[in-house]
Amino acid sequence: MPEVDAVVVGSGPNGLAAAIALSQAGASVLVLEAMQELGGGVRTAELTLPGFLHDVCSGAHPLAILSPYFSTLPLADHGLEWIRPKASVAHPLDDGPSVMLWRSLEETARGVGVDEERYRRLLAPFLENPRGLLADVLGPLGLPRHPFLLARFGTRAMRSARGLARRFFRGARAQALFAGCAAHSILPLERMLSGAVGLLFLLTGHLEEWPVAKGGSAAIARALAGCLRTKGGRIETGRQVRSLADLPAARVYLFDTSPSQLADIAAGVLPPGYLRRMRRYRYGPGVFKLDWALDGPIPWKDPQCLQASTVHLGGTLEEIASAEAAVWRGEHPDRPFVLMVQQSQFDSSRAPRGRHTGYAYCHVPAGSAVDMTSNIERQVERFAPQFRDRILARHLMRTADLERHNPNYVGGAITGGVADLFQMFTRPVARLDPYSTPNPRIFLCSASTPPGGGVHGMCGYYAARSALRRIERLPLAPLR
Ligand SMILES: Cc1cc2nc3c(=O)[nH]c(=O)nc-3n(C[C@H](O)[C@H](O)[C@H](O)COP(=O)(O)OP(=O)(O)OC[C@H]3O[C@@H](n4cnc5c(N)ncnc54)[C@H](O)[C@@H]3O)c2cc1C
Repeated sequence: MPEVDAVVVGSGPNGLAAAIALSQAGASVLVLEAMQELGGGVRTAELTLPGFLHDVCSGAHPLAILSPYFSTLPLADHGLEWIRPKASVAHPLDDGPSVMLWRSLEETARGVGVDEERYRRLLAPFLENPRGLLADVLGPLGLPRHPFLLARFGTRAMRSARGLARRFFRGARAQALFAGCAAHSILPLERMLSGAVGLLFLLTGHLEEWPVAKGGSAAIARALAGCLRTKGGRIETGRQVRSLADLPAARVYLFDTSPSQLADIAAGVLPPGYLRRMRRYRYGPGVFKLDWALDGPIPWKDPQCLQASTVHLGGTLEEIASAEAAVWRGEHPDRPFVLMVQQSQFDSSRAPRGRHTGYAYCHVPAGSAVDMTSNIERQVERFAPQFRDRILARHLMRTADLERHNPNYVGGAITGGVADLFQMFTRPVARLDPYSTPNPRIFLCSASTPPGGGVHGMCGYYAARSALRRIERLPLAPLR
C-alpha cells in the first residue's frame, strides 16, 4: 500500500471535511471507505421505485449550509446546489393553522399568536451576530470568540426544552414549535441541554430556509469529494478497515467511526483505560425510517405544510415530550414524534413528473426491531387524511438496517451518541483535546466528537487541526 501523510477511515461528511482540511495544509491524504458508495450519512438511492431518489439518511441541511467550514469550500463548483423551501418547518396541530418557522423572525412570531412578543424576545438577541454564535456553538469547548453572546445562549440553552418552553411561552403554538425543534436532540425533553438544540434549530431557520440538496444529499458527498480530489486527496471505496493490518503507513490516522469501532480496530495501540471508556460510550435511542414513492403531493389538511422542507408531526409540547420519554423508557410510542422531509416538493429531479417522494422517521429504543410503519402513517394521516391512498411503494429501515448501511449508527442511533450534559462536551471521553487519543498518531473525527451529530463537517475540521498541530513531528510508519 502506498505511503501517505494521513489516512482517514470513513468518508462521511466529517471524514471528508477532515481529509480536505489536511490536504489544504499540504498533507497527502487517503480516505478508506468501507462501502461501495462514499458519503456515509449523505447518500441517495432509489429505495422504492425506479426514478424516485430518496435520501437514505440526512434529508434537510440547515447545519451544512451554515457550517463555518463548508462555507469556505467551493462546493457549488463541484455541483452542489442548495434548494431553499419557503419555510424551514411546518408544525401542524389538531386545531388551527400549522405553526411555521419562516426565515423572517417577525412572520414567525406573528404565527405563534399569544407568544408573539415573547418569541421575538427569546430569539432576537441571538440574531445580532448569529454566525459568530454558530461558530462558537459548532466547536469544541474552549475559549469562545464571542463570550458574552455564548454565555447568554448558554444560560438559556442549558435548560431542558420543556422547562425553557414553559418558562418562556404561554400558548401551545410556540411551545409546540420549540418542542419539535428540540426533539432533534433525541433527548428526553425534560433533560438539560435539550433546550440548546431547540434554540439552535430555531436560530438556523431564521438564517436560512432549511435546504435540500438538488438531486439528493449524495450531491454533498460528491462536492466534498471533488474538493478533496482537486487538492490531490484520494478516496478508495469498498475498503473496510477491520484491523491495523488494513492501514497503510502514514503519520496520522483519523477515524470517522464510532468510538467502539475505533477501540476494536486500534485495541493494540491504545491503553486499556482509554479503550474501556470508549467502550462505555453511550449511543442512545435509534430510529425507524420510512421512505415512500407517492403519486402526488402529501394531502395536508393545511396546505401551508407544503411550503416547508421539514414537517414535525407530534402535536403539542406535552405530547412530543411524552413520546420521547417513552422511547427512553424502552417503549414504542403509539403516537411517535415524526420528522418528515418532503424533498420532491422543491426538487423536481427527485421523482418522475407529477410524482413525489416522502421521507419520515421516528425515534425508537436502541436496537429495536419493531415495525413502526402504521404508527408513523397514522401520525401522517392525522394531519393529512387519505395520505395512504397516495402511496405507490414504501421502503422501511429498522435499526439493524441502518447499522448495516452505516456501522456508525450503533443500535440505530444517528447522531454519533447521546448529547446530554455528560457527553456533549466530553465526547468521546473527557480530554482537553477531544479529537486526540493517548496514541499521538490516532484521532477521532466523527460525530462522536464535538460538536456532535449533523451534516456540518465541523468535527472533521477540528480533528484535522488537532492532527496538523503534530503531524510534522510524527514518523511516517505503519501503525503497530
Ligand atoms: C435517518 C437519518 C436522518 C438524518 N437526518 C439528518 C438531517 O436531516 N440533517 C443532518 O444534518 N443530519 C442528519 N442525520 C445525521 C447525519 O447523517 C450524521 O450526523 C452525519 O452523517 C455524521 O457524519 P460523520 O462523518 O460523523 O459519519 P457518517 O456520516 O456516519 O460516516 C461515517 C463513514 O465511515 C464509514 N466507516 C465506518 N466504519 C468504517 C470502517 N471500519 N472502515 C471504513 N469505513 C468505515 C461508514 O461506512 C461511513 O461512510 C441523519 C442521520 C440518519 C441516519
